[in-house]
Amino acid sequence: MTHILVVEDDHRIASFIAKGLGAEGYGVSVAPNTEKAMGIFAAGESDLSLVLLDLGLPGADGLDLLGRIRRRNTTVPVLIVTARQGTADTIAGLDAGANDYITKPFAFDELLARIRAALRNAGQETSSVLTVDDLSFDLITKQANRAGRSLDLSPREWSLLEMFMRNPNQILSRVQILNRVWNYGFDPESNIVDVYVGYLRRKLNLPGLPRLIQTVRGVGYRLVPR
Ligand code: CA
Repeated sequence: MTHILVVEDDHRIASFIAKGLGAEGYGVSVAPNTEKAMGIFAAGESDLSLVLLDLGLPGADGLDLLGRIRRRNTTVPVLIVTARQGTADTIAGLDAGANDYITKPFAFDELLARIRAALRNAGQETSSVLTVDDLSFDLITKQANRAGRSLDLSPREWSLLEMFMRNPNQILSRVQILNRVWNYGFDPESNIVDVYVGYLRRKLNLPGLPRLIQTVRGVGYRLVPR
């Protein structure tokens, strides 16, 4: 799943962005300050696909955080989202290693378009279509097909399908799935993963075709191509 770190101290804006991105099928983590951001960044470094970075943060400037991120990881796309207008800040942000710059207030569709463009440029979406066995899933149009037949999936099911298709044959534990698809902090005792894997499985089980998602008892699930 495409996992985005949102660094934003304004709770209202952070939850607006997180909800919107979640509805688009992105995994989202929110950090209200640089310490939290670096913690999440260090923990999920190889997992993070993109960072949305507010410049005006409590205690430290977003540009400092950008410098710290760039010293650890030179390739993750960073989009600055800020109320600061003006070319000096734009240039400072780009010079410090940001990939793009969007000023508040912004239209959410524009933010989404900038995110897609940054991901494409980063080469993380060289092909937008994942294919496993007779399954295909277009990450941009969210069109999923099995054996040429279109599947009608919800955003959570897109995310689940994407995670399974990126890790065929691999056992994915309930906690791994919960963290990637529902973000961190969800109650690990919840049965939401089983419920949604059940939904996805029913939609993938077309008459006459083999079952693709196996239950690994006591552990989790895996996608097993033929
Ligand atoms: Ca701020």
